[in-house]
Amino acid sequence: MDNITNLFPIDTQAPLKILFAASEAQPLIKTGGLADVAGSLPPALRHLNHDIRLILPAYPEVVEKAIPLKEVATLYLGGHLEPVRLLSGTLSEHIPLYLVDAPELFGRPGNPYVGPDGHDWPDNAQRFALFCRAIVAVALNQAGQNWQPDIVHCNDWQTGLVPPLLHYEGNRPATLFTIHNLAYQGIFSHTLFQKLQLPAELWSHNGLEFHGNLSFIKGGLAFADRLNTVSPTYAHEICTPEFGYGLEGLLRHRQDRLSGVLNGIDYHYWNPAADPYIHQHFDHNAFELKRINKRQLQKEMGLPQDEHAFLLGYVGRLVEQKGIDLVLELLPKLARIESLQLVMLGSGVTHFEDALSDAGERHLGNIAIHIGYNEQLAHRIEAGSDCFLMPSRFEPCGLNQLYSLRYGTVPIVRRTGGLADTVVDVTAQRLLDGNATGFVFDAPTAPALWEAIKHAIEFYHRPDSWWQKLAITGMQQDFSWPSSAIQYLDLYHEAILNPVPNPVSPAA
Ligand code: ADP
Repeated sequence: MDNITNLFPIDTQAPLKILFAASEAQPLIKTGGLADVAGSLPPALRHLNHDIRLILPAYPEVVEKAIPLKEVATLYLGGHLEPVRLLSGTLSEHIPLYLVDAPELFGRPGNPYVGPDGHDWPDNAQRFALFCRAIVAVALNQAGQNWQPDIVHCNDWQTGLVPPLLHYEGNRPATLFTIHNLAYQGIFSHTLFQKLQLPAELWSHNGLEFHGNLSFIKGGLAFADRLNTVSPTYAHEICTPEFGYGLEGLLRHRQDRLSGVLNGIDYHYWNPAADPYIHQHFDHNAFELKRINKRQLQKEMGLPQDEHAFLLGYVGRLVEQKGIDLVLELLPKLARIESLQLVMLGSGVTHFEDALSDAGERHLGNIAIHIGYNEQLAHRIEAGSDCFLMPSRFEPCGLNQLYSLRYGTVPIVRRTGGLADTVVDVTAQRLLDGNATGFVFDAPTAPALWEAIKHAIEFYHRPDSWWQKLAITGMQQDFSWPSSAIQYLDLYHEAILNPVPNPVSPAA
């Protein structure tokens, strides 16, 4: 794609108007890391004095938590017969919030993407196409808000139609599309493309068509002014066949507009010195207090309260991406190590849930499994474990290894994506230099994970001061949002200054 420089350079110090579009955001609704980002990056940008507004679908859970809300517009959107209400409220830190209220599409409790039967809602294409059209209406100042953003920050496939729909508009804001996980793409049939009444010219190999199907994520990848993923390593990985899901050619084509920005974490919410969910507060100056949390976690999970046991923790979705099959393969071996304990919290694919529950029952002595989603227990696992397991096959950024570092829980990770960018493998030299923060392995196999766990156990039984040095180095890393927010501002400016040529503008 041509790079054209805007003839009217903007003042890069001036406050930007940013519309941040996401399908989930903490503390309103969360299924994964996207919600953490959508709940933390906007406040960080607001702190830097930018006018940022968040737009989400009006799921019942969100409406309940965001009250008071007022109706600010009625929108008539293409491909949808019913009028749609735009509700307005305020999120913490005075961030204006817009909710797209279409009860027939979003008025369902529970998971935003999946029904109670565990399958995707059958009308997800209609739901998120409508969401995209509402975002476009706000972005073009066609929603009666007397406000037009300079940039629309789109996140994941649920917002993927925004860049292509804006692409054909004359006076449009710039777009940034962030890939939080390329594995989720929003693929639907060609019939749905027609039903959604999307512009016919978008049905092409260069547009939304992907092997005869409609791909929402391709809209973001092909049309956004800038693209990014949530770590530099993942930004490279997705340009290869191994991680690119057939989109690597398009991504390589757009590589000059693609970069990686590591997620930050919310240092107020994930702070071992003030965490309301844990038993004993601690920090790097009082690391030894952490062991009180370990004993409490052992008690809560029904394990023997032994502070010398080596306690491994896991929190996360139980899906193949996270390498759960590798952990399952090792469970019999781990169960035989008397001085080892394993605590796992997660939910996801039924066969993983069942296999883990079975293993938990068979090895009551040292393995405790909690199936479900439990935010508070997640904090206590971070606070009470010695090591945190993250054997992911791929990991765009990963947040749990960052929480672990903050809580002095040494991560054991596979060298991929954001894990490779945030955890430094222990060697004698790196320990001496004060750089080492965890255990890193390469192959996505159970034997490779086993070697890493063995290494961690051996290391744990060396002098206490060695372990403390490793854990405390992790606690002192800075993965807070302000530095990531500044990198996002740079991307916003690049997108504004260097837009993709617009086919209907005179510049095209
Ligand atoms: P992903 O977005 O792929 O699920 P991340 O590591 O980026 O992975 O983010 C996962 C987020 O969801 C973290 O905040 C993690 O603590 C949280 N999480 C995942 N599963 C659970 C669970 N069962 N209980 C509590 N928190 C969970």
